[in-house]
Amino acid sequence: MLLAGTVIADADTVVDDGAVVVADDTIVAVGEETTLRERYPDHERRTFDLVAPGLVGGHVHSVQSLGRGIADDAALLDWLFEAVLPMEAAMDAEATRAAAELGYLECLGSGTTTVLDHLSVNHAAEAFEAAVETGIRGRLGKVLMDQRSPDGLREETQAGFDESEALIREYHGAADGRIRYAVTPRFAVSCSEACLRGCRRLADRYDGVTIHTHASENEDEVATVEADTGVRNVRWLDEVGLTGPDVTLAHCVHTDERERTILAETDTVVTHCPSSNMKLASGIAPVADYLDRGITVALGNDGPPCNNTLDPFTEMRQASLLGTVDARDPTRLPASTAVAMATENGARAAGFERIGRLESGYKADVIGITTDRTRATPVHDPLSHLVYAAHGDDVVFAMVDGTVRYDGGEHVGIDAAAVRERATRHAERIVAEAGIEP
Ligand SMILES: [Zn+2]
Repeated sequence: MLLAGTVIADADTVVDDGAVVVADDTIVAVGEETTLRERYPDHERRTFDLVAPGLVGGHVHSVQSLGRGIADDAALLDWLFEAVLPMEAAMDAEATRAAAELGYLECLGSGTTTVLDHLSVNHAAEAFEAAVETGIRGRLGKVLMDQRSPDGLREETQAGFDESEALIREYHGAADGRIRYAVTPRFAVSCSEACLRGCRRLADRYDGVTIHTHASENEDEVATVEADTGVRNVRWLDEVGLTGPDVTLAHCVHTDERERTILAETDTVVTHCPSSNMKLASGIAPVADYLDRGITVALGNDGPPCNNTLDPFTEMRQASLLGTVDARDPTRLPASTAVAMATENGARAAGFERIGRLESGYKADVIGITTDRTRATPVHDPLSHLVYAAHGDDVVFAMVDGTVRYDGGEHVGIDAAAVRERATRHAERIVAEAGIEP
């Protein structure tokens, strides 16, 4: 297939009248359309206003999709313990499957082709199946919680590891490598020292398995960990082995100088979730400072109960606006940086090589975007447009691993209306069973 249009190859490179040529699951050429049409005359040609790399959601909770709008206007620990965890505890296999399918379809239909997904304690296999079925690229992990957790979610430390290991054997590398595994402790508040240290040992036993957790999102969380351990959260994670190039920490809003040095020296990846941080009033992550220190910072929508959208364009915009207002400097977090965070930095956060840019030899994860909208007219600068003007609904085409998964506003090979109907039905049931009053 030859995908023609204004090609945004990466955060610094735009090719006007360009094209991307795809063969099987790989990009084989990127350049001027006229040249490539001569070289690849037999490839089916599709034309879009903008052609861009599939975006990467560096921290998402697909299985929380049934909870969109259940807990607005609440602080993090109340939000978590009063609404989100009770919802997760009430979810059975069917509800988990419906939630994950809904989440992945929302991602694919708004330009996210890869996710780093923090699932739940129970029924994680359902989300893996949903990822295989919907065609999204993903690194997923069953959540581990062995202390300070509600009934229905807290489990014996070893039982969590045993199920994680079974999932690794079943799904790590599945669907031609499109699905991978991250060992996923919820956060230090809900995980014992034995659990956290065991996460490192488990990840090290399997080639390419990484670690994904939350860290220092909220001041109460940091205070709780300090009271438990005597040190601040990121220092604690470092002590128990949960820093390093194979570790992605969501949030890192509240870190001191020493913790930032640890993040930089260990090459730990941070995922910034600006909408979630604003909605839960968690604070402003020092993203520009992290980037200055050479720390890789990706972007994530977090979950539907704290955002309440999985639109990646919203997150690029919020990251840029929040970063510049925090610095009182409009040059501090420009559009190109936000695009890099949602593409190449996201690829590192999710632990996939050769995604996040349009380049020969890279995986064919490509999106097509329309600018045929009143609010999208005119387009002077495609990078600026992606970050400040585009919406997820402007995505009209999404290809993952060379397979078209979304085309002309329709999901390919899956009945999205049926998924929405199932999700609505399960959402009503689960919220009622959990006794949550939205
Ligand atoms: Zn999260």
